[in-house]
Amino acid sequence: MSKPDIATLVKLQEAETEIVRLQEVLARVEKEKIKLASRLKQFENALKENKEELERAQKACKDAEREITIVDERIIKSNETLRNVKTNKEYQVLLREVDDNKKRKDALETELLGMMEERDRCQGIVEESEKEYAQLSEQVKSEQAEVEKKTIEDRELLDDYLARQEEIGQSLDPKLMDRFRRISKMNQGSAVTRVNDQVCLGCFMNVPPQMYIEVQRGNALISCPQCSRILYFEKS
Ligand SMILES: [Zn+2]
Repeated sequence: MSKPDIATLVKLQEAETEIVRLQEVLARVEKEKIKLASRLKQFENALKENKEELERAQKACKDAEREITIVDERIIKSNETLRNVKTNKEYQVLLREVDDNKKRKDALETELLGMMEERDRCQGIVEESEKEYAQLSEQVKSEQAEVEKKTIEDRELLDDYLARQEEIGQSLDPKLMDRFRRISKMNQGSAVTRVNDQVCLGCFMNVPPQMYIEVQRGNALISCPQCSRILYFEKS
């Protein structure tokens, strides 16, 4: 191990820190995008349900209207027959039929009024949720565009750092590179850290005095006994 190695490792760490930071930012953005899309989907589902309810209410009204027409036709027909009846008994039967149908018609008309109210209520809800959906859709679109714009910059930056790290890594022994990767993975992207006043600035634990002296000399790559980060010393 030579002294220049530690300088290279410090540079590698600088890139690694940025890479980990940017990857976290991008992962958060991805989550945010999913959250936005699912919020919009929720509104879409609610709108769909409201529309289905309206359709059911409209159909109920039409069915009732159709039945009223049928009953009405029956009443007209019975009235026509009434004019041609011969016996009193026949007359009484038909009269009762007309009476029953009129009662049925009244009941249906009352029912229809309630159904129409329900239909109008559903119509209002659908209009309201269509408005809400359009608003949210607009909002989500602009939020996503903003997020996307920021993401492009961060992705470019990430690519830059990855390329830089690749370039720096080429001058290092592959074994050392493996060691760097392993320690970085153990410590969430932190593999190389400064030691100051006998304290590892990665885990803030004391390093033994003899080890501190060796780190200051910089003749070998020394790992912190607590967190395994590669230590280096810099006069402050
Ligand atoms: Zn440490």
